Amino acid sequence: TAQVSRKQVLLSSTTSFSRDDDDEPDGGDVDDDGAVINLDQTGEETTVVTSSWQFMSYFSDLNNICWFLEPAFASAVTRLHEVVGNAITEGRHIVVGTGSSQLYHAAIYALSPPDGLEPMNVVSAVPFYSSYDVMTDYLKSGVHKWAGDAYKFDKQKPYIEVVTSPNNPDGSIREAVVNGDQGSLIYDLAYYWPQYTPISTPAEYDIMLFTTSKCTGHAGIRIGWALVKDREIAKKMTKYIEINTIGVSKDSQIRAAKILEAVSGSVDDGNNETFFDYSYELMAKRWKELREAVNHTELFSLPEFPVKTCSFSGRTFGQLPAFAWLKFNGKVDDCESFLRDHKIITRGGERFGASKKYVRASMMSREKEFRLFTKRLSEIK
Ligand code: PMP
Repeated sequence: TAQVSRKQVLLSSTTSFSRDDDDEPDGGDVDDDGAVINLDQTGEETTVVTSSWQFMSYFSDLNNICWFLEPAFASAVTRLHEVVGNAITEGRHIVVGTGSSQLYHAAIYALSPPDGLEPMNVVSAVPFYSSYDVMTDYLKSGVHKWAGDAYKFDKQKPYIEVVTSPNNPDGSIREAVVNGDQGSLIYDLAYYWPQYTPISTPAEYDIMLFTTSKCTGHAGIRIGWALVKDREIAKKMTKYIEINTIGVSKDSQIRAAKILEAVSGSVDDGNNETFFDYSYELMAKRWKELREAVNHTELFSLPEFPVKTCSFSGRTFGQLPAFAWLKFNGKVDDCESFLRDHKIITRGGERFGASKKYVRASMMSREKEFRLFTKRLSEIK
């Protein structure tokens, strides 16, 4: 049916974005079977046809602070948040970015005074997403610098705290932890969608980052968006993107708009299983299988999550993160190497500011890889 088709095209992208263990592109090869769904069945609903003469200009909407934001993409974002109830868009400026990665750069630039005597400190609680430190210091700009674990930050100085909720790598729900009065907060809400976590209330922070990479799995489209309360911050973020890439691909924005509208449509429709229902079922099944495999070995443990009722779906469940944060109970010191010896590629805890007793493994691989992962894990002696 058309419904199934719509769900399928979206899900096929969700299952295919992740390479081996990983969300960043240093993974291994993937093959194309497993959970991949026949794209011939997808219908036309998310097909975008463009001609060479379309979207030629740098500009999209000169009346908008973010002048390269395609109006169709802005309305798709607004509708999706409204439908899911995971964030307030009212009274907020939308800034589009080449992935939320570019918006992270834009946000730390916008929150750091350009002529400060010292670089702005940027912190996040351990374990933190392994790209923040690299992204912050990559250019050694003098505008900002990575200052590590937010729990340890005790300087009486201005700082930016990045709050990732649900968190990558461990899936926890987070709030700011620095006890200071000179801080600005960036909320990275990449995983605040109902296939990963019960939605509690619509988020209404000053700066919130989202991305198609995690919402629908479309990482390759390179589209993220920020919801920004303060006009001046939105302007500075826009300026950063102007200097960096003179805007964001319009073709990608148009395609993202089409995909997000289809997701909202699957919810509004009301009769069939929605995209989020389908994705939730898949995550729940995988987490069940992973927990069984882990219990089988007794070598590792996984985080336990409190159960809550989701305001979107009405289901009561605990987090179903996109990553498994495995802790070793035994004597192994370097767990990443240990697992590699067992033909499982993960990312070691130290990359997230934690110890080598931890590793992060993807829950988003293709079905065949996921099968192999849980099988190999359960066989480790
Ligand atoms: N934030 C978090 C917490 C992530 O896990 C990721 C993807 N790994 C990103 C941001 C970046 O996503 P993208 O640039 O693909 O939008």
